[in-house]
Amino acid sequence: MKQLVVVNVWLDQEFYQLADTLIAVLQHMDIIESIVNIPVQNPSEEEFSSADLNWTKFGSAERHDDVALIPYARVDAFIIGECSKIECPTRFHIERGRKRSKGSLKEYKNDEYLEYRLYWCSFGPENYGEGGGILPSRRYRLNTRNRAARPQSMRGCTCHFVVKRLYARPSLALLIYNDRRHVNKSGFVCHGPLDRDAIGPGAKKIPYICSEIQQQTMSMIYLGIPEENVLEKHIEGIQRYCGSNAKVNSLASQYVQKLGMIIKRSTHELDLDDQASIRMWVERNKKSIFFYQDTSETKPFILGIQTEWQLQQMIRFGHRSLIATDSTFGIKRLKYPLCTLLVFDSRQHALPVAWIITRSIAKPDVSNWMKALLGRVIAVDPGWKVNGFLVDDAAAEIDPIRETFSCPVLFSLWRVRRSWLRNIVKKCCNIEVQREIFKRLGEVVYSIWGGVNYVVALEELTQDFVDQTAFVQYFKATWVPKIEMWLTTMKTLPLASQEASGAIEAYHVKLKVKLYDDSHLGALQRVDWLVHKLTTELHSSYWLDRYADESDSFQNVKDEYIASTSWHRALHIPDTAVTLDEKDHLFARVVSQNDCNQIHLVWNPGSEFAHCDCEWSMQGNLCKHIIKVNMICEKLQAYEPSLSFRSFREILMTMWKKLRDDSVSLDLSMAWTHQMLDQIQKLVELNSSNNVGSIVNNMPLKWVAKKSRTSVGKPQCHLALPSCSNGNTKNAAARKKNRKRKRLSRLR
Ligand SMILES: [Zn+2]
Ligand SMILES: [Zn+2]
Repeated sequence: MKQLVVVNVWLDQEFYQLADTLIAVLQHMDIIESIVNIPVQNPSEEEFSSADLNWTKFGSAERHDDVALIPYARVDAFIIGECSKIECPTRFHIERGRKRSKGSLKEYKNDEYLEYRLYWCSFGPENYGEGGGILPSRRYRLNTRNRAARPQSMRGCTCHFVVKRLYARPSLALLIYNDRRHVNKSGFVCHGPLDRDAIGPGAKKIPYICSEIQQQTMSMIYLGIPEENVLEKHIEGIQRYCGSNAKVNSLASQYVQKLGMIIKRSTHELDLDDQASIRMWVERNKKSIFFYQDTSETKPFILGIQTEWQLQQMIRFGHRSLIATDSTFGIKRLKYPLCTLLVFDSRQHALPVAWIITRSIAKPDVSNWMKALLGRVIAVDPGWKVNGFLVDDAAAEIDPIRETFSCPVLFSLWRVRRSWLRNIVKKCCNIEVQREIFKRLGEVVYSIWGGVNYVVALEELTQDFVDQTAFVQYFKATWVPKIEMWLTTMKTLPLASQEASGAIEAYHVKLKVKLYDDSHLGALQRVDWLVHKLTTELHSSYWLDRYADESDSFQNVKDEYIASTSWHRALHIPDTAVTLDEKDHLFARVVSQNDCNQIHLVWNPGSEFAHCDCEWSMQGNLCKHIIKVNMICEKLQAYEPSLSFRSFREILMTMWKKLRDDSVSLDLSMAWTHQMLDQIQKLVELNSSNNVGSIVNNMPLKWVAKKSRTSVGKPQCHLALPSCSNGNTKNAAARKKNRKRKRLSRLR
């Protein structure tokens, strides 16, 4: 009997042990140790989410992750699907990223990454609301000390996933997704229709809003849009997340009113002393600053501003693309001049991504802020790389650019062109004289590639127009001493296109209107005022432009934004509206689209130094008529190619001439050139391959058919414009593509 009991006990023990082992084995069976054994899933839907995938436990019994393997090309489809879940509509942003180059690892595991990206729900990770452990801070802080008015944006959401592009199999992406629920650290649903605290008193009397709606509302208020329209859009935005409700509407109305009041009352002047005021602003807006150096005996004042939104735009549009500068803005009127770094957005409009306020252009100073800025970008996206940097000032230090961004520096003529034209128009009243002087100055610039001696040409110019004393005096005093430096810069650096020049100029003009329009006496001499203007009004207007375009809302804002560059306006002019002087090529006539009785005369067609008699051009701007005429002239043999085309040809010819013998170095040059051609094909849309085609046809290499832009965020830029539509089928396809692009762009 006793024996039996013992046996029984033993059996029990054995049974449990066995059961444990079995469970462990069963569990273990669930855990896969090598990703080679995980099947690749490719859902057929256009977009799919985590719910459409089977998740495998990958790792060891102690530590494992939920993973799924999908084609790398479907990652965007997954992210879109994940953003549009009904129970938690959201967006995901890249919180961290890492990159390796192919071939950099000798030994690696199967799950080693080539590219690593951590996507985080944009309602997290930080908790900006009340009770959050992290000190509340905001991207767009209002200049108010009223703590109660702080709008809530982030909700501390912990939902995040990792996308690993596999080193061993770059065509595949491993998704790692452990925190799939949109909950905060305490485990409560923290946004979306299931979030009970989102609306009502639980949300601390402020209707719950995500940062996008908040930004939209603030932008509209800053731009002076009537309150009822702001409110309507605000409620629309909230209802996208939580449905209609009378209480929500009344709270929203209070919120918009309150915000409007705060903005109206907000002031740039945090302290009577400008320097102290700036110090306070810096203290409160750490997230929007990438470099700050207060004035001291040994160091000059430098303030580098970049909001998080700007950072994201710089990453998105700057990568493998261009950065341009509008340098030395307000050098005469502002206390410290302003330098803006611009990227070209999906419509090739200039978008400000960083502002630097300083008087110093000394190499070490420039180098310091540039390195800080690059460091900020690299911290988010280590693979980020810019392909070219456009400068507009011949006196600019280009070494820091080359050292920091390791990319070629291009030169844009927009500033010198504008400055000359404005002064010609101001100082010479006869329009024929204006045209001729501008044309002659253009000839001086064109002479950088030989033919004319600029000293002689300038001498002749001043003699021929000796009666234009005001202009000649100005030119001799301002330009003659430094003209050699400017021409040398133009000759040594590749020259930027007219589209780029027009885009930078459009930004410059907008900045000028915003800053100088309502500046009260003395404000221009305060840095805090400048900072306030930039980070509120100007930032808001660019934010709303992009938002209107990408969400296809605010139709008039969108239309205005699209038409904000001369290049885009020029695309609306049909070829038939232009007639050329076939005989001497002296001028072109452009029939006005608004009033067919009005004709604009473009003098010196085909040149950057063309002169138009329209009002916009007479203010010194590059007008749509000139751009349109030049677009037509580019295709005609009888006209000289533009400066940027000549500069490009010059580079290609130099490269060609270098190849002297049939040696291995020829092979190497060939290989490099091929690589370059390949890259150009992928990255650059060539508006007209005619000129480039003829250049390249002269070379031993063949130009392969041009390809439209394919990368995300770089859509075909003229989609919305009728001049580009060639038939309905193509249009429908383009629209579809555009829709998809819009959705994709929301992810960044
Ligand atoms: Zn979330
Ligand atoms: Zn014009």
